[in-house]
Amino acid sequence: MALFETKNLTFSYPLSDKTALKNVDLKVEQGEFILVMGKSGSGKSTLLRLLKKEIAPVGKIGGEININCDSIGFVGQNPETSFVCDNVRSELAFVLENEKYSNDEITVRIGETASFFNLNFLLDKKIDELSGGEKASVAIASAIISDVQVLLLDEPLSNLDAKLRTQMRSQIALLHKRLETTFIYVTHDQTEAMTMADRIVVMKDGVVQQFDTPSNLYNHPCNMFVAGFIGTPQMNFIDATIITCSGELCALVDDITVPLPLRMQENENVKKYVGKPIVYGIRCEDMHINSSYALENKQNEITLKADLAEMMGSEVYIYSSINDKEIIAKVRSDTNISSGDSVKLYIDTEKVHLFDPESELLICD
Ligand code: ADP
Ligand code: MG
Repeated sequence: MALFETKNLTFSYPLSDKTALKNVDLKVEQGEFILVMGKSGSGKSTLLRLLKKEIAPVGKIGGEININCDSIGFVGQNPETSFVCDNVRSELAFVLENEKYSNDEITVRIGETASFFNLNFLLDKKIDELSGGEKASVAIASAIISDVQVLLLDEPLSNLDAKLRTQMRSQIALLHKRLETTFIYVTHDQTEAMTMADRIVVMKDGVVQQFDTPSNLYNHPCNMFVAGFIGTPQMNFIDATIITCSGELCALVDDITVPLPLRMQENENVKKYVGKPIVYGIRCEDMHINSSYALENKQNEITLKADLAEMMGSEVYIYSSINDKEIIAKVRSDTNISSGDSVKLYIDTEKVHLFDPESELLICD
């Protein structure tokens, strides 16, 4: 049985004309690390509030929600608001005392948990004396100190500075590995935690756009929103038209024709778009310069003016435009390119995604 399952879950807050969640279908299995991503207001916190069960938000709920676990830990955006005691040791002991753990067991657990979180030297400090990072650690520690089956984390690191956030993020990943507890972790920051998630829920306006592995979201986004959301700089979206050119399907970009890869040539979905506009999606790392790959694929070449060449260390970002839309290519920095140069970019057509400009849905990838 899945730990959490929602079917067609819909939710709206009272007096709000916006639906906070629309037709959400999710199934989370025991032990998974799920990341929930989306811009502010997309419904992430609302979803977590509903999964939390005991303090369901007031509002109109539709569809189904099944929660098959007893103990759920929660850490919110402002961890300090959840503290009930004024000192760290009592804060950690509080949950255990509530759940009638023996005194010996409480001492052992506090010792173990404090060691894991490096909190030993803080145990006798007052909560008020802690830094932001220490408060977040204490909040997470007290949320998992009694054996919870699930830990829900709603942007617990959003108030920390970038460096501390990176540290805490890896600690959370480590914690998940060690506990084998199910984690559902909300963030609006796409660089946060991509590597630690088993699966990611991408939300927009209360609707789940895609629920998939990080690699599938990156390689096979189901629409332009997901394609643009995952990956930085974001995927280039180039206006193009599908045409037939000496019997082959090609994308006409500006006045350049780029043949579509073999797998798209016979695709029925793609064939429907012959003569029609499409959006040609290509990630900046899938356009190359001077690579041996490129030499064999001359026909996939476009020449652009580098409006700006930005040296980023191991890579150079080339900023250019097609039909007045900015496109960015990320190429190796051993290529000598300066702002203003004309550059030949080779498109790795194996990595191309085609989208419908109206519905923004994937046509083929
Ligand atoms: P997120 O966590 O992704 O930023 P939320 O789940 O907090 O998004 O909000 C989803 C939508 O519900 C937003 O439009 C927000 O304004 C609305 N909303 C959130 N909380 C309340 C509330 N208590 N009352 C009314 N509307 C709310
Ligand atoms: Mg939120």
